[in-house]
Amino acid sequence: MREYLFLECTECKNRNYRTERETKAGNKLELKKFCRVCRKHTPHVEKKK
Ligand SMILES: [Zn+2]
Repeated sequence: MREYLFLECTECKNRNYRTERETKAGNKLELKKFCRVCRKHTPHVEKKK
């Protein structure tokens, strides 16, 4: 099983990236990604579609 996720900027709440991964129990991913809206790297968290 695969699931599709969005990576949402924790500062502006913009959904900047879409990703997919194997469905696994639990752990929420938090990644530093470049946000075009904030124009800097910010923590992004997973959000389900
Ligand atoms: Zn942002």
